[in-house]
Amino acid sequence: MISEATTPRVLTAQDRCDSCSAAAQVVAKFLNGELMFCGHHAKEKHSLLKEKAVDIYDPNSVFHTL
Ligand SMILES: [Zn+2]
Repeated sequence: MISEATTPRVLTAQDRCDSCSAAAQVVAKFLNGELMFCGHHAKEKHSLLKEKAVDIYDPNSVFHTL
């Protein structure tokens, strides 16, 4: 039996940025939920995400190009 917690996160075309509805590239996990961001908004909110998020899923290495 596969638990949901161990299922790897996969971003699909249905995953959209919470700020502008572009395709999501980054998922930021918070204690009370998660938010998705496109590359543009992920970079814009990078310092906030680094401070507040408990986990950041960044399969396209958006933050590595900063
Ligand atoms: Zn966006």
